Formats: sequence, C-alpha cells, structure tokens
Amino acid sequence: MKKELIFLGPPACGKGTQTDKLAKYFGFPHIDTGSLLRAEIKSGSENGKIAQQYIDKGLLVPITLVAEIIKNRLKQDDCKNGFILDGYPRSLEQAEMLEVIRKEIDGDNEVDFRATYFEIDTNLLVERIVNRRSCPKCGEIYNLISKPPKNEGKCDKCDVELTQRKDDNAETAQARFDTYNRETSPLVEYYKNKNVLSSIDADGTIEEVWERLLKVVE
Ligand code: AMP
Repeated sequence: MKKELIFLGPPACGKGTQTDKLAKYFGFPHIDTGSLLRAEIKSGSENGKIAQQYIDKGLLVPITLVAEIIKNRLKQDDCKNGFILDGYPRSLEQAEMLEVIRKEIDGDNEVDFRATYFEIDTNLLVERIVNRRSCPKCGEIYNLISKPPKNEGKCDKCDVELTQRKDDNAETAQARFDTYNRETSPLVEYYKNKNVLSSIDADGTIEEVWERLLKVVE
C-alpha cells in the first residue's frame, strides 16, 4: 500500500535529519518544503522573491504558493509508492489543503497515511539553530556542538565550505518558534483526532531517535 508520511515538530527538532534518513530507508522521496522554497529563491523566480520576504521574518509563506509547489512535487512519478513530507503542513489551513491535494492524486485508493510528532523541549532548540551548518553541495546537516565536521568548516563528504542559513539566527529563530506555536502546534490535536498520530521523544542522539522513529513508521 502507498505510504504517505508527514512529520510535525518545532524548528530544529531533528526532523530534517531523521526524515532524510527515513526516505533513503524506504526508497521514497524526501520532500522538504523549506528546501524547495530555498531552491525557488536561488532560481530567482517570482515565487522565490515572494517566499524570501516571509522566510526572512520567520513567517509562513502564503498557502497558495506552497500548495502549488507541493502539488506539483507529489504528482511526480517517484511519489507513486510513497513519500516523506517534511515541513508540510504547517497550519490547519494547509492540512485541509493537503487533504484536497491527496484526494486529487490518490482518488479513492487506500493509502497508509500517518503523522509523527517529534516531541522536544523548545528551550533546547535555539542553541541548536544558531550552531547549525549545512553543505551547499550535498545538503548534509552539521551542528558545531553535537555533530561537528571532521575538518573545521568543511563538509566531510564534499570538502566544500559549510554555510549557515540566513534565517538560522537567534532573532529569526524566535519568530519561527512563535509561528510554530501559533500556526503549527494545533496540528497535533488535529491528527490525534483523526487517529493517525504517533509521538516520539525527539531528545536524544541521532541513533536513539532513529530507533524510536522506526518503531512507529514501519
Ligand atoms: P524550514 O527549512 O522547515 O525551517 O523552513 C524555513 C522557512 O520556510 C520557514 O520558516 C517558513 O518561512 C518557510 N516554510 C517552510 N515550509 C513551509 C510551509 N509548509 N508553509 C509556509 N512556509 C513554509
């Protein structure tokens, strides 16, 4: 049966690292709206220019813009056996929109749809955000404290200079947490009421969280 997995959790809760690993494990595409939006910005498109204004303020990009990107991506052939959706939906409005998109793509076919909530104390996360770096070539995520690169400032795999996301500063991070609390956190109740939600403790090493994750998605 087609597997459609979505993930909830505050910024920098570790979802990106874990869902990327999970996508490789299942052989499904890892669809991360933050990365798709950053790619739009890089391409210089009109949508990218609009998205940038919201991302820089830690706010959600307008729903129609993200829906268009997600719909086009989920329709692609590599999603036909399943997909991992990371960072979408992020509001009740987007969750309703996802229902419409899934209906259009899957019709009446039975699908294994599940949401996983990464539960973690947000006090731990601002420090994680400001210490986060990534490789502009392969996308590997590092943390200067918990997962430093072997050679200072360089990707272990590509040996290129690591970069820091523009919105990974303390001020924008706070705005992103406010947005999360206001817009995204109500989705926990939403998916609980639909009986599709599992929660995992996201405080731990990458390996510990991975073990917990596998138990709820396999
Ligand atoms: P992320 O890479 O998941 O931390 O996302 C970075 C930024 O992209 C967020 O702070 C939002 O401004 C924007 N963004 C990512 N996903 C969405 C979404 N589903 N809806 C609206 N904006 C989004």
